[in-house]
Amino acid sequence: MYDFIIIGGGIIGMSTAMQLIQAYPDSRMLLLEKETAPAMHQTGHNSGVIHAGVYYTPGSLKSRFCLEGNRATKAFCDQQGIRYDSCGKLLVATNQLEMQRMQALWQRTAANGLERHWLSAGELREREPNISGIGGIFVPSSGIVDYAEVTAAMAREFQQRGGEIRYACEVVGLQERPTEMLVQTATGDFSCRLMITCSGLMADRMVRLLGLDPGFSICPFRGEYYRLPEQHNRIVNHLIYPIPDPSMPFLGVHLTRMIDGSVTVGPNAVLALKREGYRKRDFSLADSLAMLGDPGIRKVLRDNLRPGLSEMKNSLFKRGYLQQVRKYCPSLSVKDLQPYPAGVRAQAVSRDGKLIEDFLFRNTRRSVNVCNAPSPAATSALPIGAYIIEQVDAQLLALPGFNKTRQEPAAHA
Ligand SMILES: Cc1cc2nc3c(=O)[nH]c(=O)nc-3n(C[C@H](O)[C@H](O)[C@H](O)COP(=O)(O)OP(=O)(O)OC[C@H]3O[C@@H](n4cnc5c(N)ncnc54)[C@H](O)[C@@H]3O)c2cc1C
Repeated sequence: MYDFIIIGGGIIGMSTAMQLIQAYPDSRMLLLEKETAPAMHQTGHNSGVIHAGVYYTPGSLKSRFCLEGNRATKAFCDQQGIRYDSCGKLLVATNQLEMQRMQALWQRTAANGLERHWLSAGELREREPNISGIGGIFVPSSGIVDYAEVTAAMAREFQQRGGEIRYACEVVGLQERPTEMLVQTATGDFSCRLMITCSGLMADRMVRLLGLDPGFSICPFRGEYYRLPEQHNRIVNHLIYPIPDPSMPFLGVHLTRMIDGSVTVGPNAVLALKREGYRKRDFSLADSLAMLGDPGIRKVLRDNLRPGLSEMKNSLFKRGYLQQVRKYCPSLSVKDLQPYPAGVRAQAVSRDGKLIEDFLFRNTRRSVNVCNAPSPAATSALPIGAYIIEQVDAQLLALPGFNKTRQEPAAHA
């Protein structure tokens, strides 16, 4: 019997596994991942931004973990020799309405304790000659990194301390018993004292495998990107973000300098008809029927019909997509939008039709389940892992017979 089984080899699962083995060095641990390598889903298909924590409600888990995660990710990268760039982020207002919204963001960044600078149109032009706007906020602590590389380093640390990883091992059944948690996979069964699931786009299905009604459903949104041609690699010096509509903060494509030197545009947010479906034509009848049958998701789609259709139109017609970025980077043209792989976001939706904003966990006696870990969860992966370990500590107190050594986890920030 294992002491702990972790399900999911994305950045949340790997961060948790690495910190758990640091905390309980003499316990037996297994991580199960259905793909053949780590970071094959959200963690390996994102913008690679180390977020600063601009938008999040002060006091929320997102706000707290993002701030801590920004520092912790950079410290982990320093320790592991992983390249990152603290290139900073510029939020750009292009009209008076956005100026008003920017004022609100200015207050929010103050409440979140961020270093930031207000830029006039002239100061903005000086910093970014190819960007046009009537003002901006500069946040120096935002950065870029390759999260797949970070996750691979976490996996190595876990294995070097004796943790076991099995890839190509999909969990298909769970049985919580008085004395153990039984984890069933296509290649055999495993048992443990305590299980932690970090299954991203499958989070609701994992809770269902436990025989529980999760009370939320995962709605998958594809985020499509383009890459700019190489001659535009120096078109911007920072990450360039539009000022979001506060009612839909995740809409609005940004210009992102990637750690490999290229620049991407994106992502948009289009309803995906297949979880883990990365191409426009990907379709799963089972996933689509499950979404249509879900009252919460139906309400979200009804309430957001106009922006939803607009995102879909701009996904199909490059010119519409281009318009969004030309607002602040007018020199770009359609031929500058070159193909780049998409990602799919796992967004939890409550039964009453609300997008669940904050990170969400649900525990049983022998399990901790990460139910909602959308952006900035890659930035926040180290504090999320530490938070999970606090929950594990508390749950172990109620489980008889666990007598392994507890050590303080290594600090990453
Ligand atoms: C387009 C896009 C852009 C983003 N940009 C950023 C950004 O710039 N900065 C940032 O901080 N965040 C960003 N995010 C968010 C971030 O990528 C995710 O929040 C984070 O990667 C979530 O990690 P995870 O480990 O929870 O999920 P995942 O990386 O999806 O990992 C879950 C893992 O669980 C495995 N799994 C699922 N079911 C099973 C099963 N039954 N058995 C075994 N294994 C299973 C999956 O195969 C997968 O590997 C972005 C996300 C997207 C999609």
